Amino acid sequence: MAVTIVIPTPLRQFTGGSSEIEVNAATAGDALLELTTTHSELRKHLYNEQNNLRNFINVYVGDEDIRHLDGPSTPVKDGETIMIVPSIAGGSTGAGTLLSPTEDASSAVNADESLFAGGTGDADRSVRALLSNEEIARYSRHLILPEVGLEGQKKLKQARVLTIGTGGLGSPLGLYLAAAGVGTLGIVDFDVVDESNLQRQIIHGTKDVGRAKIASAKDRLLDINPNTNIEAFETRLTSENALELFREFDVIVDGTDNFPTRYLVNDASVLTGKPNVYGSIFRFEGQASVFWAEKGACYRCLYPEPPPPGLVPSCAEGGVLGVLPGIVGTIQANEVIKVILGAEGILLNRLLLFDAWKMTFRQLKLRKDPNCPLCGENPTIKELIDYEEFCGLKATVEEKPEIEEITATDLKTLFESGEDFQLIDVREPHEYDIARIPGAKLIPLGEVVNRICEIEKGKTTVMQCKGGVRSAKAIGYLKDAGFEGRLINLKGGIGAWSTDVDPSVARY
Ligand SMILES: [Zn+2]
Repeated sequence: MAVTIVIPTPLRQFTGGSSEIEVNAATAGDALLELTTTHSELRKHLYNEQNNLRNFINVYVGDEDIRHLDGPSTPVKDGETIMIVPSIAGGSTGAGTLLSPTEDASSAVNADESLFAGGTGDADRSVRALLSNEEIARYSRHLILPEVGLEGQKKLKQARVLTIGTGGLGSPLGLYLAAAGVGTLGIVDFDVVDESNLQRQIIHGTKDVGRAKIASAKDRLLDINPNTNIEAFETRLTSENALELFREFDVIVDGTDNFPTRYLVNDASVLTGKPNVYGSIFRFEGQASVFWAEKGACYRCLYPEPPPPGLVPSCAEGGVLGVLPGIVGTIQANEVIKVILGAEGILLNRLLLFDAWKMTFRQLKLRKDPNCPLCGENPTIKELIDYEEFCGLKATVEEKPEIEEITATDLKTLFESGEDFQLIDVREPHEYDIARIPGAKLIPLGEVVNRICEIEKGKTTVMQCKGGVRSAKAIGYLKDAGFEGRLINLKGGIGAWSTDVDPSVARY
């Protein structure tokens, strides 16, 4: 049987860039076996040492997860499509971006405003549910929709929605939820607006560069709808503050960009019984779903474990089409509104996959896993855990010293010393076109092992990329492949070179 295997973006580096590969096989397992025979690098990313599919990789035949069919023995028909769907986070994978909380978020919660406090809280809720004439005019296009109407608009006004992150996903989310008349919007972020955010984080403007994201977002949201009550938490979401914060809200929206926070958002949502409206993005691909343990699957039912650090590149490394978070975030806003209205057709137990480049939407079935450690029949996770450890980030930090490093300034000294060394740039050719360090030889990360003979063993080799993550990975690949020469990683990559040595080299 000729079947097509759809390769997700993060794994295309191991298939020579191909997004679809045709193989001949009778079962899903055989198809994957043939795929990993012709593309051997893929094997260790799909299977563990016991030859089982890894937990962060899901395989679908048609729209069904093979775990719910016959596993690898699931038969495939001629012309059928097999999809490999790994988890994606969107943003940073490095522990270096994990900052400590700047304040205890719980202290910023006004207990009197809580919808769940009972007593006066409930009275507040009904008073705030009354719509003024100004609001009736503002929401008229909603009010004349029978599916929303006055009752629905009051529900929106009563609702308390917490958005984690005010970045690519959080921008359209916040804008549309404020415009729609959601009464209280909680926003959690600890970041500062950077020029490189403006390509997609449309809640912030050029004038906001350097400001705290929550301050910039709050100004913009109040400009759209002054009736919105904004509760801004300038903090990092942590295992210490998440439960207390989530209890104060009705719906949680996951606009995060890294795996530790995704699992934290999922677990805290399940433990507090809140729906978690999920979205994630990478390059041209997006995912969206509504995880709600009381009604169906949670994120852990879909992906019990995160991918190892570094396998799925961050948007800072891999790039992202600016409009993609706009589309995925808007889908999340749509689902938040439907959850509040109690609408039918919520994206429950379904994973929506969007490919902006091919302009395709696919929908895959999700099922609650009875063995889910969090929301299954015999849960073992009953409280929040250390998510950086769970995602393997702490181990990465400890392993780091094994790689020899050089700073940009010391690299300049090395150039000036006249020592005969080689500088290998493992970025992609289109990045090399934007900016380069003079004398660097380009060998993209995906080709490093195959082109190992082009790297001279007898010379010192400095490996370099944009920020130092990919080049460290390249050093690991070369060592695994048996390369015996001296390999040194340029700390901070070409970015550090631009900042510390030669400002005429463009930063991107
Ligand atoms: Zn679950």
